[in-house]
Amino acid sequence: MPDDRISCTADVVAVPLSVKLADSDVAIAEDQRIALIERITAGGHVELDITAQTYAQGGTAHNRNGTRFSPAALNQFAKLSTKRRSPFVRNHSLAVEDVGGFTLASNVERGDGRQLIEQMRLVTPWATLAALNGTMSRFSIHWRPDKLEDVHCSACNAPVIQCGHWPGDEVKNALVEYVYKSADPVERSWVVRPAIEQTGIQDLAQALHDEYERRPRHFTTGAIRMKPNTLASLALGENATDEEIHAAVVTLAAQATEVPRLREQLAEAEAKNKALESARAEAEAKALAVEVDAFVAELKASGKVRDGDTREALVRANFANRTLIDSIVATWEAPAALKGRQSKPDQEVGKNGGNQSQVRALDAFRLLPERTRQSLVGNNKCTEERARAIFATSPNLVPDGITLAEVN
Ligand SMILES: [Zn+2]
Repeated sequence: MPDDRISCTADVVAVPLSVKLADSDVAIAEDQRIALIERITAGGHVELDITAQTYAQGGTAHNRNGTRFSPAALNQFAKLSTKRRSPFVRNHSLAVEDVGGFTLASNVERGDGRQLIEQMRLVTPWATLAALNGTMSRFSIHWRPDKLEDVHCSACNAPVIQCGHWPGDEVKNALVEYVYKSADPVERSWVVRPAIEQTGIQDLAQALHDEYERRPRHFTTGAIRMKPNTLASLALGENATDEEIHAAVVTLAAQATEVPRLREQLAEAEAKNKALESARAEAEAKALAVEVDAFVAELKASGKVRDGDTREALVRANFANRTLIDSIVATWEAPAALKGRQSKPDQEVGKNGGNQSQVRALDAFRLLPERTRQSLVGNNKCTEERARAIFATSPNLVPDGITLAEVN
């Protein structure tokens, strides 16, 4: 089915190549011509066969209306015109009184470019009279493409509905022509006014305009594609639909408006976090101060540290490094008197010189700084057996002045 919304015409100035009586092979002589005119004027019936060039297309030259047929389209026009006995009319009118005859044969001839040579039978008075009196000198054909997409742009080689070029536009130093890839014949016509050829282009303009209105999607999904990397930046694949692209852009826009609010929230959270951090650091420092005071007090109680001596300063300055402090403190000796008061074996030693070096593991364990003891057994009481096991596995814990053998 041809696209009825769009049609085009193009005309040629060409006197009929021949005018003969219907089915006759002989050209009409001058006296016969006058007689025929008189007969028709008197109301008699005459039928004529005329042969005329109704269309011509240059090889490279441009047509005045900026249109052109593909070879296949011109052949289609000729073939269908013959098959359907396509009408011969005047002024491209499709009113019945303007039909003057019909096509007997339509052929494409090739020379410099292509010409349409058509043989037509004229049967109505206006047509036969015009052919005989010589006023019939300009012909024009009228066609429609099978579909709008069959009209291609000569510059882009794409359907004109996609590219937006117009006949007569200059693109890359060449004039744009509309190339019809199909042509369904409407009629061929006797025309007088050359301007009539422009009506076809106006029809086409209107049809294109209507088509733009009718299917806007065509121009977003077919003609204009987003670049693959643009789609990728929207987290979309190359075959994303319009709806998906729209949704992605809407989401993006919504996210963009969220950004300032989220930044504000982040700044608030960061400020809160900073305050909490400093409160925690303060609390930790306080806890450490309490701890160091207790530790120092313990060292003083054991006699390892005395008021105002450098050991206290050493402990306080390095208390954060407990491993270091513990290892240093472990080397400090408690005064003998204090040690003796705390140590039962020593009391026994005083009575019994023979057992002077005997220190039981549990007593030795009690000589360890409280923190060390706690790290070894927690708040549980330590048994002698456990104390032996501790010293056996960690000989460096054995208090100064005592040998490993004495605690095991
Ligand atoms: Zn174009």
